[in-house]
Amino acid sequence: MRWDGQRVGASSDGDQPAELTLFGMESCGRTFDTPEFHGMTFYEVRARTIINKVPAASRVPFQWTINPYRGCGHACVYCFARRTHEYLDLDAGHDFDSKVIVKVNAPELLRKELVKPSWRGEPIAMGTNVDCYQRAEGRYQLMPRIIAALRDARNPFSILTKGALLLRDLELLREAAQVTDVALSVSIGSVDAELWREVEPGTPSPQARLRMCRTLADAGFSVSVLMAPILPFLSDGPERLEETVRAIAEAGAASVTPIVLHLRPGAREWYLAWLARLHPELVPRYQSLYSGGSYPPRAYQQRVCAMVRDLTERHGVGTQRHNPRNMAHRYPLTG
Ligand code: SF4
Repeated sequence: MRWDGQRVGASSDGDQPAELTLFGMESCGRTFDTPEFHGMTFYEVRARTIINKVPAASRVPFQWTINPYRGCGHACVYCFARRTHEYLDLDAGHDFDSKVIVKVNAPELLRKELVKPSWRGEPIAMGTNVDCYQRAEGRYQLMPRIIAALRDARNPFSILTKGALLLRDLELLREAAQVTDVALSVSIGSVDAELWREVEPGTPSPQARLRMCRTLADAGFSVSVLMAPILPFLSDGPERLEETVRAIAEAGAASVTPIVLHLRPGAREWYLAWLARLHPELVPRYQSLYSGGSYPPRAYQQRVCAMVRDLTERHGVGTQRHNPRNMAHRYPLTG
């Protein structure tokens, strides 16, 4: 959907619609009086399109995406999608975490788009911008109907998530995997519980995500784990890397893909402000490591990724047996 010229207005307290302006669109903002959604506002909109074409210049290994949400209550301090909130005249910091756009008509729209003669049934990636199993999904329940639509159209798809809520839809995913390719990826950057609370405060714990991997693997899915982001000076030490890879291996993952933290504009300011509050001693080291732009030096990335590769071999990631009948991981995600 296009957001050009649309503005989000004030929110309200209580379980009432808030004043909202999205030019030319029916929409309303809601808050919910439950501890889970404290301080959050959900802006319900009716999207005009739902299958999005990835720009040709993008280097990601997929061409089509579905994003039923904008913004993410998982609130990871490093989230690279933060800047996209600025296109909505919202900020990339707290607004991204607490003001979530919900495309309430996404499932119905998807069914219509899947039967258009122009649609070629290409693989669709989900969870590539923001997490489609973020906490809002517990309330809006868009994903079951989205998966059902893809299943009925026998359209291949992939999901990348930190949300253990995905297990709610396990039976639907199994049904879909019987008729098309379904690729499931879980993001686990580190199993350090203290670091998790600091950097991913709205997400299910790493242990919950590992249990999700195990359940999915036992159900016959070939689960890939995106070990991302690996945080310089916080989760990149040999012991930290090893405990994470070992836990992922024990959870039955089929593969591990390490990605070192990148700090693009939007995420960069928010992350460095967080770092200055909680780990001020690391700020000069980060300024040096990221002095060349959004990425740390290639040599650093290669060293960390080589360590992870060695660990995956040592711990036998991907050597466990999987049911080959109903899973396919043919188009890896980069998250
Ligand atoms: S779960 Fe993903 S989309 Fe959500 S805040 Fe974290 S990194 Fe961003």
